[in-house]
Amino acid sequence: LPVRKIVIAGNWKMYKTQAETQEFLRGFLPHLEETPQGREVILCPPFTDLSVLSKTLHGSLIQLGAQNIHWEEYGAYTGEISGPMLTESGVRFVIVGHSERRQYFGETDATVNLRLRTAQRFGLTPILCVGETKQQRDAGETESLISLQLDKGLLDIDQSNLVIAYEPIWAIGTGETCEAVEANRIIGLIRSQLSNANVSIQYGGSVKPNNIDEIMAQPEIDGVLVGGASLEAESFARIVNFQS
Ligand code: PEP
Repeated sequence: LPVRKIVIAGNWKMYKTQAETQEFLRGFLPHLEETPQGREVILCPPFTDLSVLSKTLHGSLIQLGAQNIHWEEYGAYTGEISGPMLTESGVRFVIVGHSERRQYFGETDATVNLRLRTAQRFGLTPILCVGETKQQRDAGETESLISLQLDKGLLDIDQSNLVIAYEPIWAIGTGETCEAVEANRIIGLIRSQLSNANVSIQYGGSVKPNNIDEIMAQPEIDGVLVGGASLEAESFARIVNFQS
């Protein structure tokens, strides 16, 4: 049986100045000495932190990720960032279609697909986020909604260079975690819709030191995408060094 990669990513959203980033690293990096082999650890900071991180992290276990990428190589797109800008900053991964981008910045399945294509064109590994709102879950629409997000988002995407994150929106930043068994079930459904069964699929939504071991014990869950708990060195270290 092919072994899927364990991928643990921290999404810093719009948190941390460069000075705060350096302070985080002072607390976090020593813990990586205890991290078991074979775990991919990714930090996705604001763009302004990328150069500090790429210098400090060079040669360490951590990979750099970004939180967005535009679909054009360059152009008059105020406020956006391009693939070459990211790769030159040492970025290897990029989050695409996070629910906050879909909710607040007009991201659609069509723009998600364009951004995914461009990420791959520039050699980046996209982390595609999918997931339902509370309202959609209560209406029994979870499975069909996710299926649609995958259908449209993954159109003409190379599934050998892809990570997917299942992030139920009602569990993001709320402290309300999706039951590990339920997250495992949905992730199994996501996998059944892929042409490549080896894609690593993460769970995201209020992952904390006190629930990481249970989440990672689930057979379909290959990693986590962590918001709030990735901002604090001790808690992110506990998550990265989960007990298997
Ligand atoms: C996220 O932003 O992707 C996320 C899962 O946030 P949190 O861990 O804070 O719920």
